Amino acid sequence: MPMVVILLGAPGAGKGTQARRLAEALSLPHIATGDLFRENIAKGTEVGRRAEDYLNSGELVPDDLVIDMLFDRVAAPDCAGGYLLDGFPRTLEQARTLEERIPNGTKTLVANIAVADDKIIERITGRLLCRDCDNIHHSKFAPPRSKGICDACGGELYNRPDDDPQLVKRRLDVFHAQTQPLEEHYEKQGRLVVVDGEKSPSEVFKALLESVGEAA
Ligand code: AMP
Repeated sequence: MPMVVILLGAPGAGKGTQARRLAEALSLPHIATGDLFRENIAKGTEVGRRAEDYLNSGELVPDDLVIDMLFDRVAAPDCAGGYLLDGFPRTLEQARTLEERIPNGTKTLVANIAVADDKIIERITGRLLCRDCDNIHHSKFAPPRSKGICDACGGELYNRPDDDPQLVKRRLDVFHAQTQPLEEHYEKQGRLVVVDGEKSPSEVFKALLESVGEAA
């Protein structure tokens, strides 16, 4: 039976790091809408051009654009057996569209990585991304062995422009207003599992794996 795993959580809650590990453990493709937008922007596509100002200001990209991009991606053959979503859905409209469009018989699991706002600011502003692979370092919590160089592949590390402290504040406001209502939406459906995201990355991973394993 195909399985769709949805990871919810504020920006900086650790969704990206956990999604990558969990997708690998479950042998599911990792689909991150933020990564898809950044790739489109880097390539200068029409989608990238239309999304860029929203990413740069910490606002959500309009639902129709995100939904079209996401469903194009999950129509690919590698997603036929299911996929893990990181950063989607982020609005009730997106959640409802996903429910309408996923094939009958698909098992949907939703895990929320819960982290308090003050921790989020500290985590997100030190985040370091690699230009060449999808590894994530942190200047304080997961520093690279050599400054500015990715441990995994030797690529150059950089700060995401929208990880600037002022934009993080805006992204958190957007999260509370538009994305957090999804927790209640999925709770009502009896699908929501909550994991304490303030634990260490390996403890969070273990908790996620256990809860997804139990629900699967
Ligand atoms: P992320 O990498 O998930 O933090 O996403 C970075 C940015 O991409 C967000 O701040 C939004 O501007 C945009 N974005 C990513 N996913 C979505 C989504 N599902 N809905 C709307 N905007 C999104």
